[in-house]
Amino acid sequence: MSFASLGLAKELTRAVADEGYEHPTPIQREAIPLVLAGRDLIGSAQTGTGKTAAFLLPILQRLAGGQSHALRALILVPTRELAEQVLQSARTYGRHLSLTAAAIYGGVGMEPQTRGLARGIDVLVATPGRLLDHMGRGHVDFSHIEVLVLDEADRMLDMGFAPDVRRILDALPEERQTLLFSATISADVDRLAQRALQGHASVEIGRRAAPADGVEHVLVAVDKLQKRGALARILQAKPAGQTLVFTRTKYGADKLVTFLRREGIAAQAIHGDKAQSTRQRTLDAFRNGAVDILVATEIAARGIDVDGIRMVVNYDVPTDPELYVHRVGRTARAGQRGVGLTLMSPDEWLLVADIEKLVGQVFPREVIPGFEPATRPPEGRLAAVEQPKPARSVRMRAGRARR
Ligand code: AMP
Repeated sequence: MSFASLGLAKELTRAVADEGYEHPTPIQREAIPLVLAGRDLIGSAQTGTGKTAAFLLPILQRLAGGQSHALRALILVPTRELAEQVLQSARTYGRHLSLTAAAIYGGVGMEPQTRGLARGIDVLVATPGRLLDHMGRGHVDFSHIEVLVLDEADRMLDMGFAPDVRRILDALPEERQTLLFSATISADVDRLAQRALQGHASVEIGRRAAPADGVEHVLVAVDKLQKRGALARILQAKPAGQTLVFTRTKYGADKLVTFLRREGIAAQAIHGDKAQSTRQRTLDAFRNGAVDILVATEIAARGIDVDGIRMVVNYDVPTDPELYVHRVGRTARAGQRGVGLTLMSPDEWLLVADIEKLVGQVFPREVIPGFEPATRPPEGRLAAVEQPKPARSVRMRAGRARR
């Protein structure tokens, strides 16, 4: 199936061809015709599924047909990294159109953003808090808004943006198209959808609790104090290519990077204590391959959209199973293969059981020679699932469960 057959104009099919996309992803196939038809939509889709293009392409097409340079599309996102990324995608997909786009988010000066808003833009990507600041100062005119996108709605709510989002919704014209994307549709997201999509049809697409099929999940059993050594060994023994390592805390990220560097492994950290410009530089270095190993905290990694991440490492087991899905969703994007490797100490066994339940697989348990834990972990406990044998080597194999 081609992008043109979805009803996209040649300016947009040319832009995706420039990007080397050959076929629309499933969410693009489903969402694009609906959005072009003006429908409201709830897309339950994670990053890595092509959801950004799924909403941007039809929105840009809609805007291209109208009067330019009035603010007509607003895209709300949880983080500044995601704001930058969506902005870049809007510019990429809109390169053969004469639309303008801008992003506004906190942590940087107001003034350049204010000037940008005054210049007249078609597409605004914004984090809720900073948008409210600009609204309070009369910098934005919502009277021409035709489309609203709530991207990563679950994250926005998790980050406490619900009141801000409500205030923004109240300020928007009621007559508009609204699209909501969320990795999970929790009760809170559903409530937000009820409010935002009021009076409109809503369609749910491709709900998926599991990460992409191309992810091989691997558990490495190790004692807590041995984690960093085991990780260094893994990274040295089998360089996986671009690797994203998650730590729970900023301090943990810095400490781990210091340790890895001492072991001769060139790693860099990205987290919320670093200046925006430093984070951007680090991210660019990771994106263009100058840095292979990026150590990140959850928040800083939100919206990291780098193609070709070969391995995601959970240095700490995420406490929320959905976070696990979100983290490993950074690898195996757009049909590629990747590894989700989790270092698991005995105090984390129970957390792993919850993750396996959510993903619906028992992951293979492995140990790193020289870093065997004092106690062997129990095997996975999913009922009616073929249990893979715990392997002894570092080999990364998928432990796909048959239900
Ligand atoms: P997203 O889910 O929006 O975060 O996109 C995930 C990645 O897939 C992005 O880096 C896109 O550049 C890429 N991508 C989006 N659509 C396609 C497509 N149809 N074919 C190949 N890659 C794509």
